[in-house]
Amino acid sequence: MAPAVFLDRDGVINRDRPDFVKSWDEFEFLPHTLEALRILSQTPYAIVIVSNQSGIGRGLLTEETLRDMHSRMVDRIQAAGGRIDAIYYCPHAPDAGCACRKPAAGLFLQAAHDLSLDLAASWSIGDSYRDAQAANRAGVRAILLGRSLPDHSAIPEMPVEAIRTADLLSAVRIIARNDTGNDTGNDTGNGTGNGTGNDGLLAGPA
Ligand SMILES: [Mg+2]
Ligand SMILES: [Zn+2]
Repeated sequence: MAPAVFLDRDGVINRDRPDFVKSWDEFEFLPHTLEALRILSQTPYAIVIVSNQSGIGRGLLTEETLRDMHSRMVDRIQAAGGRIDAIYYCPHAPDAGCACRKPAAGLFLQAAHDLSLDLAASWSIGDSYRDAQAANRAGVRAILLGRSLPDHSAIPEMPVEAIRTADLLSAVRIIARNDTGNDTGNDTGNGTGNGTGNDGLLAGPA
């Protein structure tokens, strides 16, 4: 079984929008994303996107448009030396009561089943409480980016267990550092996003 890094999409790979990312024109990579994915691609982790895309269920974009966006996104990532191994998304509206919309764990469990993933050896990187809650439920270690606060689609009474850091690049550094054992595997609570500058293998931000 392979370990994976599960990536939320909006707010992690590309800039999120309050009115949903509905087309390739509205898709904007966040700074250092392509570099972070190149570095992550050199690790043993499978790289799996798990994304709530309720814009489909709300009638704001079609699955065909979403798939086209994803194929362009993957092309850009590959051109920069990175890769994405699989993309799982929930197309349902929030009130559909499905088992895949985060904070439910369905996307993680489906990917683990399809790809024979070792969830306990895996990581999740998201920018919303619901991302960390879904990961926690699936038994996946969670990293939360930015100054994310409890959001309306998170479960208010459910505690969130996650390492906090600034952005995808610093999250990838935490994962790589954890694997090499340089940090005693105990990053909890001190992820400031600064990196330590002594990662050795990892290039700094350009
Ligand atoms: Mg997000
Ligand atoms: Zn769903």
